[in-house]
Amino acid sequence: MRADNGNYDAIIIGGGPAGVSCAVWLARLGLAPLLIEASESIGGLCRRNPYTDDWNATLPGVSGSQVADNLALSLEQAAVPTRLSGRVDSVQRQSGEFTVMGPAFADTPRAPYLVLATGVRARGLGDPAAFGATAQGLLVGPGAHVVAQDFRGQRVAVLGGGDNALENALYALGRGAASVQVYARSLRAQQQFVRQVAPGRITQGSYTVDVRALTVNDQAYDVIMVFYGWEPCMEFAAPLGLQRSQQGFIATDMYTAQTSCAGVYAIGEVAQRQHPCVVTALADGVTAAKAIQARVEAVA
Ligand SMILES: Cc1cc2nc3c(=O)[nH]c(=O)nc-3n(C[C@H](O)[C@H](O)[C@H](O)COP(=O)(O)OP(=O)(O)OC[C@H]3O[C@@H](n4cnc5c(N)ncnc54)[C@H](O)[C@@H]3O)c2cc1C
Repeated sequence: MRADNGNYDAIIIGGGPAGVSCAVWLARLGLAPLLIEASESIGGLCRRNPYTDDWNATLPGVSGSQVADNLALSLEQAAVPTRLSGRVDSVQRQSGEFTVMGPAFADTPRAPYLVLATGVRARGLGDPAAFGATAQGLLVGPGAHVVAQDFRGQRVAVLGGGDNALENALYALGRGAASVQVYARSLRAQQQFVRQVAPGRITQGSYTVDVRALTVNDQAYDVIMVFYGWEPCMEFAAPLGLQRSQQGFIATDMYTAQTSCAGVYAIGEVAQRQHPCVVTALADGVTAAKAIQARVEAVA
């Protein structure tokens, strides 16, 4: 099918590694994908990763933002129509086709297949209004706001026991923090990070936080960084009534990435089908593209 008059074979929402991989494969398979990305650039969470991507055996020494640049280049080389700054607010199913809506769309793109690749956002400390998540000294999740923080001479508390918590604790130490203390109810981070943080800098077990006073266990800090994991970005898909996994991500068929709604696929971190990283997100994109190709050929 040619992609004119707003008709495509598949609309992919989300321009991180999962969405880009799916779009590039669909284009290479001869189908007409449209990729829609909320932000002004391609790359998803990779764009916010200033560190080297040591998890990818094919990219030694390459940074997350370079991975994001490569994703954008791949999309361009596959000539995939792409809409940036195009946050999708809602999706609808009508007469066997899916349409997407958002404030940036003058038209209504439509396609028989829809791929959700919208990733995750950092979980905060509950209701942001109640906890003042934007308060001075409180940084939730990794990314540009951590890079922008001046850690020199600061007393830093890091809440969480996963990779992000430990990696960012090391980042603050490397940026001149006077002290860094990690509070972890359980320690799940990769040993490569745990080994680098001195044992005395990690407090394991339960703890109490006062984000207004910036204290943890009554100890005062200048900066508290929160790494409590992630939740799926899927509010816009509410009209589809998709089933969720036990962990709250979009439930999918293992072999095709199809959701509980026929014709809708969910890939990458929004579905958390495998350990979340760039490689598994790319693989998920291929899985959905091949499943869509099989469906298109079966219908033709
Ligand atoms: C600091 C940091 C370091 C990391 N380091 C590594 C590493 O070294 N190696 C590694 O393999 N992985 C790493 N990761 C993880 C990796 O970046 C993610 O697993 C991967 O980016 C997930 O890809 P995704 O496509 O599922 O989602 P994302 O990358 O999150 O992309 C989702 C995209 O969807 C868009 N979107 C969301 N909602 C909407 C909407 N309503 N409308 C339109 N678009 C929308 C978002 O803007 C985003 O661009 C790191 C992550 C972080 C944060």
